[in-house]
Amino acid sequence: MKNILILAGPSGVGKTTLAHTLLNNSDRFELVCSVTTRAPRADSYDSEYIYISKDEFARLVSEGGILEYTEYAGNFYGTPRSEIERISADGRTPLLILDLNGVHTVVNSKSGICPCAVYITVPDSVLLERLSQRYGTDTEKLNSRLVKNISERAYFEEIKADFFAVVENAGNVEKCAEEIHLIYDRFCKK
Ligand code: 5GP
Repeated sequence: MKNILILAGPSGVGKTTLAHTLLNNSDRFELVCSVTTRAPRADSYDSEYIYISKDEFARLVSEGGILEYTEYAGNFYGTPRSEIERISADGRTPLLILDLNGVHTVVNSKSGICPCAVYITVPDSVLLERLSQRYGTDTEKLNSRLVKNISERAYFEEIKADFFAVVENAGNVEKCAEEIHLIYDRFCKK
């Protein structure tokens, strides 16, 4: 069985920063690039996607080359099995950042993969501050994000059992990344 580490949690909890801290602090993990049909954006994390056409995405799904996928804002996003295979064969642990649907699919699929899913939270006041900073004066986007976060939280309550641990990323990202690393050690020993 191949172990993988999955980070999930509401938008604004710092999953991407945490993933990069884990990657910087240890060569045990390697980030799995998702494939997506959305167009590249000019932001620093765009290299973490492999951009493909909708036809190519459909072909990969039909051939079983995608472990899990989701549709978001009219675009498809999926985890390529080939990346998991490659990283595991290199002796490292694939690290994935997934939405809750993705976690639920991977944890419940009989795919020969053993997922350690960690749910990241922050206190509500911190989340509100971060999202306010992210969306600035666009209160419409901020409100729609907050509404989404509420429904995602309700879904999290439904699928809580899929997670090995819940971690609060309250302030110190290095400390939080260290905690996740220890949780993963514990997972590997179970
Ligand atoms: P964005 O376009 O903002 O980078 O991502 C949009 C959404 O797609 C985010 O919620 C992100 O977590 C989700 N996402 C990105 N890659 C994957 C993937 O491989 N699988 C799933 N299930 N969701 C993904």
